[in-house]
Amino acid sequence: MSKCIVRAISNQKGGVGKTTVCQNLGAGLARQGQKVLLIDFDVQSNLTQSMGCQMPDELPFTVADIMKQIIEDEPIDPLRGIIHHREGIDLLPSSIELSGIENSLVHDMNRERILKSYINQLRRNYDSILIDCMPSLGMLTINALTAADRVIVPVQAHFLSVKGLELLLRTVNKVKKQLNPDLNVEGILLNMLDRRSNFTKEIVQLIREPFGSNLKVFDSEIPMSVRAIEASAEGSSIFDFDPDGKVAEAFNQLVKEVLKNERQRQENKTIHLR
Ligand code: ATP
Ligand code: MG
Repeated sequence: MSKCIVRAISNQKGGVGKTTVCQNLGAGLARQGQKVLLIDFDVQSNLTQSMGCQMPDELPFTVADIMKQIIEDEPIDPLRGIIHHREGIDLLPSSIELSGIENSLVHDMNRERILKSYINQLRRNYDSILIDCMPSLGMLTINALTAADRVIVPVQAHFLSVKGLELLLRTVNKVKKQLNPDLNVEGILLNMLDRRSNFTKEIVQLIREPFGSNLKVFDSEIPMSVRAIEASAEGSSIFDFDPDGKVAEAFNQLVKEVLKNERQRQENKTIHLR
């Protein structure tokens, strides 16, 4: 069985497309035959809603309950609360209760590793686990980065703040040094691009040049399209909602790129071992 890879989709900037990327990358990987779990790790529960669950606060069991059980050192059933979506993806939903968990983590001895201890119990059940992070660098995001093998950073070209990106990358490095040596930035993903605008072109270049030299910027770019918004309102991925559109095509490219990079990493590792 292939090794499970855990990815955090993170950027402390709000509205850059983290949730949309999480849902569509997950759906794309599932279409390639992977067993995929999405974890909604945001108190806003947007991913839970985009997966068709309209009332997250009425769910009987969510990621907040799992976190609570681990904090209280109770035994957990790692599969409890997981919802099976009709597109063949699993989801661990979130609810507003997660905001209370963030506060209680402050006093916990193992506060950065709560999510990791949950995810480690699930790794053998999945090929890919994607964590949809909230727009902050608080304790929940630190938990996600501590649990993850890789980080994908969606950025939106027009509202890009390079300073914000630097802060995120510094946080990732700090987590790597102090909490999770396995963590790596898989790539920056240019999202919601309007290629017709000259301004966008300039910013894309601005990101690709300085960051591209020491960090990967995905070749795949996700275009701006109202179809992406409509799909999540319908509780569907873009592959289900508009399979022939340009957003589905872009996510297909991204899935291929992610899988190709993974194969290359595995090959390099094998060569190394020989
Ligand atoms: P938050 O920081 O609040 O969690 P986010 O980074 O998760 O936000 P999303 O919720 O995925 O961002 O996206 C923000 C908005 O942009 C949503 O309304 C979403 O439907 C829309 N959106 C996402 N991707 C695209 C796209 N490719 N084209 C147009 N709109 C998009
Ligand atoms: Mg979100």
